[in-house]
Amino acid sequence: METAQVRYVMGTTATVRAWAPDSTRVGAAVEAAFAAFARVDQQMSTWRDDSNLSELNRSEPGQWVAVGPDVSRVLAAAKEVARLSDGAFDPTILPLVRLWGFRGPEVAVPDSGSLATVLSLVGHDLLEVDEPEGRARLRAAGMEVDLGGIAKGWALDRGKEAMQAAGATGGVLDLGGNILVFGPEPSRQVGIVNPTLENELLATVPVVESAVATSGQYERFLTIGGRQYGHILDPRTGWPVEGKVSATVIAPGAMIADALATAAVVLGPDRGLKMLEEAPDVEGVLAVADGRGGFVLMPTSGFLLPR
Ligand code: ADP
Ligand code: MG
Repeated sequence: METAQVRYVMGTTATVRAWAPDSTRVGAAVEAAFAAFARVDQQMSTWRDDSNLSELNRSEPGQWVAVGPDVSRVLAAAKEVARLSDGAFDPTILPLVRLWGFRGPEVAVPDSGSLATVLSLVGHDLLEVDEPEGRARLRAAGMEVDLGGIAKGWALDRGKEAMQAAGATGGVLDLGGNILVFGPEPSRQVGIVNPTLENELLATVPVVESAVATSGQYERFLTIGGRQYGHILDPRTGWPVEGKVSATVIAPGAMIADALATAAVVLGPDRGLKMLEEAPDVEGVLAVADGRGGFVLMPTSGFLLPR
């Protein structure tokens, strides 16, 4: 038996496809996946005031906040990717996201003074996580954590777990461009999109028993004075990452794929590929403008690019 459902969750479109021996279990598995997504949203959304993460973001500097085992685990993973990427990925990015106007109401290129002020509040070392106790704290007033670059991946990992517990033998979960495939039934081709023409695929790759995340500066952007600024920011400069670049990462787990894809967009082809090469069981490909209106695909050494 096989079934699929599409719903709007975590600010994006989610598709869950399940395989199970009977209709009861196939239905229960799909519901279990969406329940897992809703739980992650309840814990980690910065768009709702009642999430554990929003509680942390409102806390006094130095004050420990009980965020629970899930949030503390994702915070710890985000800090680890921050370390692996030399700070290109940074979960404390939210004040910068707000400064540029990505959370409304006004969009503007910030002046250098406010950029410098806000940048002093961005730094993964200023976020402390006590994973065994399930708590975290912020070291400076005005800091805010944003798990938008990693939480969808984590939600997919939890979704898979919930589906298996509900009796699914296989599944394909797609959450806003993050994809997780498990079990023997699904065979899935995942496309690598052209960063300037979202409907055009540069290549497709087969995915079996793993996760694929694609991050791109084309996905969401602001337009200021006729120029487009993408939603992935470079915490080292305070500016949105320049140029049309996308990164596709394949990994055993969706959380690590999600975070590394965002980090690779910030790092760009040279350092981004190096980071992906060094990560165990991870492959990926960056699509970078070739300067003549086209794109070059730059894969890691183990990435099988179909010809
Ligand atoms: P999407 O959310 O479009 O699937 P990503 O996984 O790449 O794409 O996450 C982008 C989001 O992550 C942004 O909307 C923002 O909330 C956050 N973000 C932006 N820049 C960074 C960064 N350098 N490090 C960590 N998170 C970031
Ligand atoms: Mg990401």
